[in-house]
Amino acid sequence: MKKIITFLVRKIPRPILIKFSFLFSKIISVFYFGNKVECPVCGNHFRKFLPYGNIGSDNRLCPSCLSLERHRLLWIYLKEKTGFFTDKLDVLHIAPEQPYYKKFEKLKNLNYTTADIVSPIAKVKMDIKEMPFNDNSFDVLLCNHVLEHIDDELKATKEINRVLKPDGWAILQVPIDLNLEKTYEDFSITDPKEREKHFGQYDHVRQYGKDYSQRLERSGLKVTEVNFIDSFTEEQIERYRFDKSEIIYLCKKADI
Ligand SMILES: [Zn+2]
Repeated sequence: MKKIITFLVRKIPRPILIKFSFLFSKIISVFYFGNKVECPVCGNHFRKFLPYGNIGSDNRLCPSCLSLERHRLLWIYLKEKTGFFTDKLDVLHIAPEQPYYKKFEKLKNLNYTTADIVSPIAKVKMDIKEMPFNDNSFDVLLCNHVLEHIDDELKATKEINRVLKPDGWAILQVPIDLNLEKTYEDFSITDPKEREKHFGQYDHVRQYGKDYSQRLERSGLKVTEVNFIDSFTEEQIERYRFDKSEIIYLCKKADI
């Protein structure tokens, strides 16, 4: 069964997986009945999570809502450390994540906009480097696992800074190799296979390192690295299956 699931998760293109995820997850969750791991996003518990990733790493993907480690951690962060679920907020969600967007749409306190250049679930089709929004439009902007795909990252982060309200904040997560002091990018590498080898995925244009915050700050954003993971016990980390090295990048609009 594990082999079949690993094969399906790897081989089925993500847009199709997203389209049929409801049916897919209903079938799969039967095989994962149990109470060893828990997903705070959908509230379900299982024997274990599904494998996910190129090497089919075990115990990562929620069978019910398709959350990964980072979705589960950020969900609790938004709930416990921000007014996201209670305050009246204008929110822009770029590349809306499957486990989140329907739940966010239902939150009555949010004026919630989804946007993306290709995603079938986004309402506004747009290029992050040229957003169709006025300056100072949003209280909150979520844009996770996007910047590693963007060639002109500075143009994108300047746009994020521009559309945030003066007291607005953004969460801009990316995959980071914390063993890497400096972000590795080489725009001469364009072949998908080479990109996978150098940057970890066929459509990534760089591998971020420990200088990620400084790179973001070139746009004017002010970045706080939040070690939210430190507030959990070992048992909780194992139950939610968090990635212990995950840092939350909380970005505030600069006072220009
Ligand atoms: Zn879930």
